[in-house]
Amino acid sequence: MGEVLIRPRREVVRGPLMGDPGALGRFGEYGGRYVPESLIGVCREVEEAFREAWADPAYRGQLDRLLSTYAGRPTPLTPALRLSAELGVTVLLKREDLAHTGSHKINNVLGQALLAKRMGRTRLIAETGAGQHGVATATAAALFGLRATVFMGARDVERQELNVFRMRMLGAEVVPVHSGAQTLKDATSEAMRHWVGAVDEAHYCMGSVLGPAPYPWMVRELQRVIGDEARRQCATELRAAVPDYVVACVGGGSNAAGTFAGFVDTPARLVGVEADGGAGASRGRLGVLHGVRSMFLQDEHGQVAEAHSIAAGLDYPGIGPEHVHLRDLGRARYVSVSDSEVTEAAMRLARTEGIIAALESAHAVAWVLRGQIPAGSTVLITLSGRGDKDLATLKEAL
Ligand SMILES: *Cc1c(COP(=O)(O)O)cnc(C)c1O
Repeated sequence: MGEVLIRPRREVVRGPLMGDPGALGRFGEYGGRYVPESLIGVCREVEEAFREAWADPAYRGQLDRLLSTYAGRPTPLTPALRLSAELGVTVLLKREDLAHTGSHKINNVLGQALLAKRMGRTRLIAETGAGQHGVATATAAALFGLRATVFMGARDVERQELNVFRMRMLGAEVVPVHSGAQTLKDATSEAMRHWVGAVDEAHYCMGSVLGPAPYPWMVRELQRVIGDEARRQCATELRAAVPDYVVACVGGGSNAAGTFAGFVDTPARLVGVEADGGAGASRGRLGVLHGVRSMFLQDEHGQVAEAHSIAAGLDYPGIGPEHVHLRDLGRARYVSVSDSEVTEAAMRLARTEGIIAALESAHAVAWVLRGQIPAGSTVLITLSGRGDKDLATLKEAL
């Protein structure tokens, strides 16, 4: 990572951004490893194994090959010509919707499954909300001949019948979680508890840039491929090489982190778009949840609150620690959009470009549609996933 000079509000900070957070896994005052004693050892082991693998050309070569022969990478960069003409800005779409399983999540799970194999693990444990990360994990498990156990809130199991079927079809065991609000937060807690009793055989496959160190860093590195590819593709597509704006939706923040990592050392303005009802960066408060110190939606008693979004993948009450750090430094901004702006953006993209994007991804498009970007600018939007899964929701909303 290049050395960059940035000017946040008060002080000047010099240092590599989006580099290695070191053994403490800290991004400024965020991050860390807040887990029970019984998980400290295995977190360290995962960190050591990943550090070694990431520096090993054999692991990188295997992963690159899987990404191209199995996941469909590189994904295209599509100039959105009609939308650009309508908005008076040049819009480029990074097409993670065209990756296998329909979103960027496959990049992360292939890397972690390959790591699990290397560590001699025979099982993957994962949490899932809408089921997208569960499906990706089940997919990677099938590919590698690993067992997969996916924890899912009982309410989500009911709401996401099709994804539950997909996971089971892929050979995964889906465990409904009946505690708390029976959604993603509870599923994650239960999955981590289960991991405590299975650390020797199971790898915990975290779905976003969350959880205890090394997960926020490891998942960002595994998603960096989005930003690295886009950077090269932009250089071909744009005479100026680097877009003026780089925009991505933020749930936990993995597709945004992977995208930003490719541009953090350029003058591009980085914008993360959250859901109004899941805005950890804008409305969260400092706290510790699922092993990490970051910003979480909380009630007046400091209890973590439920998030609400029309996009199930943005229904997490927190945001990854590195995003909060980037925000504090003034290097990235975080904004939020409403459900109705999102459905409108999904329709507009469908009709101008012939692309039905995931409702999560439509958040990024919705912010660009607000028209706050100066005419003549160039904008890269990461389309994190495809919208097939959201058709029933859209049909109801429109
Ligand atoms: C899961 C998901 C997200 C949110 O996760 P991040 O970690 O914030 O990227 C966004 N888009 C799609 C399509 C998803 O499936």
